[in-house]
Amino acid sequence: MKILVLNCGSSSLKYQVLEMGANENTLLAKGLVERIGSPNACHTHKVDEREDYKVEKAIANHTEGIKSVLDILTDPVYGVLYSLSQIDAVGHRVAHGGEYFFKSVAVDADVIEKIEKCCELAPLHNPANLTGIKAMAELMPDVPQVAVFDTSFHQSMPDYAYMYALDYSYYEKYKIRRFGFHGTSHKYVAEKACRLAGMRLDKTKLITCHLGNGSSITAIDCGRSVDTSMGFTPVEGVTMGTRSGNLDIGVVTFLMEKEGLDAAGINNLVNKQSGLQGLSGFSSDCRDLVDAEKSGYNRAKLALAKLAYDIKKYIGAYAAVLNGVDMIVFTGGIGENSDRVRELVCTGLDYLGVDFDFEKNAGTRGVDVVLSKPSSKVKVMAVTTNEELVIATDTMNIVNALKEKAAQNENDNN
Ligand code: AMP
Repeated sequence: MKILVLNCGSSSLKYQVLEMGANENTLLAKGLVERIGSPNACHTHKVDEREDYKVEKAIANHTEGIKSVLDILTDPVYGVLYSLSQIDAVGHRVAHGGEYFFKSVAVDADVIEKIEKCCELAPLHNPANLTGIKAMAELMPDVPQVAVFDTSFHQSMPDYAYMYALDYSYYEKYKIRRFGFHGTSHKYVAEKACRLAGMRLDKTKLITCHLGNGSSITAIDCGRSVDTSMGFTPVEGVTMGTRSGNLDIGVVTFLMEKEGLDAAGINNLVNKQSGLQGLSGFSSDCRDLVDAEKSGYNRAKLALAKLAYDIKKYIGAYAAVLNGVDMIVFTGGIGENSDRVRELVCTGLDYLGVDFDFEKNAGTRGVDVVLSKPSSKVKVMAVTTNEELVIATDTMNIVNALKEKAAQNENDNN
């Protein structure tokens, strides 16, 4: 089954085409359309062992962006399909499913209406996701579409974990509560880590650390998310590339007064100018900070130390939430690649039963690997994430189930 995976951002569109089999899957092509809405948008398309396609042109909106993707997928030189009819289904990453969606779903009018209702919870992302869904429905009306939500994995959190201690009426009126994000990644790496370690997910207590430009930590009990560090928005939790993570609300009101900032100004400050960028004063990129720390730049050292300290505090908190922990998993650009951050986080976790293999950790990047010693009570792993694969897998399973149901109905009618 050939599946097109679409991830529409506010001004960008990422895609992959995957050939999904029962036991194996192959990435046929992937690409990115950037700066949608501008006269010099850029479409990059990659197919293994072929020259990349990269073209700058005007792309007015997501529908035009998707048209550009469909054109290149069937292009005689750069394409991987002889006809668009080879696409069996489309899987969409959708940022926010609110309290409506506990799992991925086939898109229909009711699903679209609910995603629309969640737009005010994710004003930058959900409208873009919807544009992608509607554009595909227009361009390929007979192809089934599936929505996979960043939030749905965390819908299993208990109310005392997801509620803020505010007047309850705000929850009733606006759904002010913690939702969590990166759900597809946390779910995927938890399953993969257990499979690789020969452990049963339904009997394991895990803490998964998705560390990238955006970062979140999740406590997973027997396969269910019971708490996660991001909240109502992705700004809550640990220090991130440009997001502040947890902050005393008093700081916000103080800065509003002192700096004359309004809601948009504060939003910009805590989302775009804080975190590693704000602390270091020069970069949000972990690689730059590790290099600068080596050269003795103190604020890079501070930024990395703060990041690792935040992660360590969540690990301690979630070990308490789970009443123990069997495995800690690192993933995301930083989790998979930064031996320095993993080293800082795992130093001094021996009280918890972590016997970290510092030698093995050094220089290890981009692979699935056990980083604790065989004697360690708690296993530590780095595992590569693949959110597109989760989206494609969910899409395939849902489409297959729909086909089976349709066949069953037909049998019943005959
Ligand atoms: P993501 O948002 O998951 O793509 O992750 C982006 C982050 O991963 C950036 O902070 C990068 O600096 C970091 N990263 C990527 N590769 C490396 C590496 N080799 N060493 C350290 N950090 C890395």
